[in-house]
Amino acid sequence: MIPQKTVQEIIDTAKIEDVVGDFVNLKRAGSNLKGLCPFHNEKTPSFVVSPAKNLCKCFGCGKGGDPVRFIMNHENMSFPEALRYLAERYNIAIVEKQLTESQRKERQLADSLFITNQYAADYFNKELMETDEGKSIGLSYFKERGFREETIEHWHLGYTSKQKNSFTLQATQDSHNTDLLKKLGLTTQYGSDFYRERVMFPIRNLSGKIIGFGGRILQKDAKAAKYINSPESDIYNKSRVLFGAYYAKSEIRKLDECVLVEGYTDVISLHQSGITNVVASSGTSLTVGQIQLVSRFTKNMKILYDGDNAGIKAALRGLDLVLEQDMNVKVVLLPDGEDPDSYLQKVGTEAFKKYIDEKADDFIFFKTKLLLEEAKNDPVKKTRLIGSIIESIAKIPNVLKRSLYIKECASIMDVEEKYLVAEANRILESLVKKSETKRLFEKRRAEREKAITPKKTPTPNSNQSPNQNPYANEPSPEDLAAMDAIAAAEEQGIHSIASRPSAKKSGDAFKEKEIIRILVTGCNVIFDKEENITVGQFVLANIQDVLEDFDNLLYHRVATLSLQHLVDEKPLTPQFYIGHEDEEIAQLALDLSTSPNEYSENWQKKWGVTLQTQPQPDENFTLDSVLSLKRFKLAKLIRMSKKSQDEMKLASEKGDVDAVNTQLKMVMKLKQMSSDLAKELNTVVFK
Ligand SMILES: [Zn+2]
Repeated sequence: MIPQKTVQEIIDTAKIEDVVGDFVNLKRAGSNLKGLCPFHNEKTPSFVVSPAKNLCKCFGCGKGGDPVRFIMNHENMSFPEALRYLAERYNIAIVEKQLTESQRKERQLADSLFITNQYAADYFNKELMETDEGKSIGLSYFKERGFREETIEHWHLGYTSKQKNSFTLQATQDSHNTDLLKKLGLTTQYGSDFYRERVMFPIRNLSGKIIGFGGRILQKDAKAAKYINSPESDIYNKSRVLFGAYYAKSEIRKLDECVLVEGYTDVISLHQSGITNVVASSGTSLTVGQIQLVSRFTKNMKILYDGDNAGIKAALRGLDLVLEQDMNVKVVLLPDGEDPDSYLQKVGTEAFKKYIDEKADDFIFFKTKLLLEEAKNDPVKKTRLIGSIIESIAKIPNVLKRSLYIKECASIMDVEEKYLVAEANRILESLVKKSETKRLFEKRRAEREKAITPKKTPTPNSNQSPNQNPYANEPSPEDLAAMDAIAAAEEQGIHSIASRPSAKKSGDAFKEKEIIRILVTGCNVIFDKEENITVGQFVLANIQDVLEDFDNLLYHRVATLSLQHLVDEKPLTPQFYIGHEDEEIAQLALDLSTSPNEYSENWQKKWGVTLQTQPQPDENFTLDSVLSLKRFKLAKLIRMSKKSQDEMKLASEKGDVDAVNTQLKMVMKLKQMSSDLAKELNTVVFK
């Protein structure tokens, strides 16, 4: 652990222009500096560095942040790693805090596991290069595949002999702990070697440490599985690892594209030929974790399939996962009977590159054509096909992209576009409902758990009876789910294709964002000089009681964390948000603090609100925060009032007079509150 004092020193010392300047060629542009974005391919510079704000941001792809965040993104480092990097750059000594016993143990265990794996890799490599058996079986296999010696060394390939337990014996003799050997899957429970008579492929994490192995058997008639992999361990999580990622990551970023193949040997072979943006999923079919790993480097993925791949349709289904992560997926089908390795050997690097560039087909179109060919003129099959294609399309988060796909697929399948639109909307709605109900469920559960161990934050309304407290009458979970779904879906741009939902509901999300913008960007601006209250304190004090009404999870998190920060008596500063470990919060803070103009224009264009504080919102936090809070509360009041009216109607249909009266009182009270608020805001309430 790095002591907080040192963390602050690093953050205070690191200059954004130095830190970025180490990687990007920067030129002065007014008070800022500009350069080509290191996160995406571009020809004209849109990467702006602001020494005054100590921030950088790409106005093309949106990436950026403070010095720590920049290093985390650029070097794929964790928060502490980035701090260490900067400490080294600025010669700041880190005196490590004492680790807790369990932290120390955890780190020690991980360290010993890495050491043991490295030992095993060295052992297997020696077996391959120096023993007769290794040379005649393992090495000759690799040579047959065309691997050069420096390639074998680079990937640190190995071989394990026929002996029952020669590795385990040697390892224990060299004082490696048997428990660790078993934990890593190198040794079986019975003390023999897990890998025997196999060529070995070490699997590394992103920092190059060996976390596991893949072993391939060479005997043709063997009953054992062709490939076996290390079991999961404290350092190896299969679903988050891609074979070759350590060697491929910088090229993937540079080319802004990742090529995915199936086998270890394909990866190695392509790398050897100079195509180095290639990885393989090791021992699993593609997982969300692996896609997220790739998406740290690029949004573009090209997947190569063998020409005679029987499992291709099953594989296609898995690809919807990639679409959900908003990746651009292309598929390349190799010629019949070829795998990437064999085809590369046959035609050479240049022709291979040309082939995968030219034959790359957009995943959705590829799927459409493939299934269409099979359906031919069978109407039942064709209906099923349309359903399956639309399901894929519906998972694309980007609205524009989605409608382009619909257009194109309608023409490929020769159906009218409007049917596809209707079908996509139907699927979308059910998707949104599903995920939002789940989210809401979890949110409510978390709240209940929180209620059991209450945080000491005063709630002004808590001593009133439930009926007098307008916030006590919560809408039903279903109701909330529906509202949440729309607000959240809109935040992500998942609104329906054919029609936009009414602006009123999306207005809530916008109001929430406005409050968070003021909180984040103005948190340490003085609000009231006499009382010495900051805008941040003012905003938080005023939203405490409606905190749980925030629809947007991220905004809710920001508000809750800020409140906790204040409760802990720590000062709120923009740095708290921009340098936050939670990547989503850091990105939000960056976006909010680098686009002040979006605010004024949007307010006027979208909601017709008369602005009293423009054109420099940065300097008018006081009035802004008061108004925003009122708008936000007004929106919630209107929502509750409508809900109460519905309940009243329901009660009167049932003839429940008491309930009608209760709801009536509620409605009156809510209406009074909203109209008071509305008057202050100069707005008219319609409902
Ligand atoms: Zn960029």
